[in-house]
Amino acid sequence: VDHQGEILEESGQKDGPFRILNTAAFLIHSAIHAARPDVLCAAHSHSTYGKAFSALGRTLDPINQDVCAFYNVGGFPANCFYLGYFTYSWFVKDHVLYKQYNGIVLDEVEGKAITEALGSKKAAILQNHGLLVATSSIEATVHFYITLERSCEVQLLVDAAGAANGIKTVFIDSADAAETAKVLGSQGTAWLKGNMQFMVLEQEEGVRYKHVTA
Ligand SMILES: [Zn+2]
Repeated sequence: VDHQGEILEESGQKDGPFRILNTAAFLIHSAIHAARPDVLCAAHSHSTYGKAFSALGRTLDPINQDVCAFYNVGGFPANCFYLGYFTYSWFVKDHVLYKQYNGIVLDEVEGKAITEALGSKKAAILQNHGLLVATSSIEATVHFYITLERSCEVQLLVDAAGAANGIKTVFIDSADAAETAKVLGSQGTAWLKGNMQFMVLEQEEGVRYKHVTA
């Protein structure tokens, strides 16, 4: 479809064309593409663990290496500074929480509000709804979406186990999280990993997908 929601291509089904537009999906995706020229691919879904985690109304904690992909990817010392003998550092997240669930997205206002909340970041947890990832390549978006969904699964496990045993969760140090994010949160790494995931898919499905360079 184009930016106005006009269907440009048929589905490829041999039985006949399906010309049905998912309005809610279109309004979210079109608003992101209109506001973020850097975004080539946005992914939004109501995957189980993302949807479950979204009901808690919070962002992900830096509790393992992989989730650091959704922390600051800025250069050192992007999130720390030195004052005498002391180092101050803090977490800068590369994902946001969009809190206002207003029902199924059926008007432009909601799509724009989600886009505004996303800002320049790569991912959003849509409260009581699901997950959203937007990046500059299809491969990176697919990889980050899978990582985000699994990060929600792991956080739910950790929170439950910690609460059951009265244990406080251990966080990765913010400077270490930032250094990790430089690698795991980068478009290049995500493109590489996403590419491998597409290769597995090709092997399983017996089809070839076009590869787009990062
Ligand atoms: Zn949705």
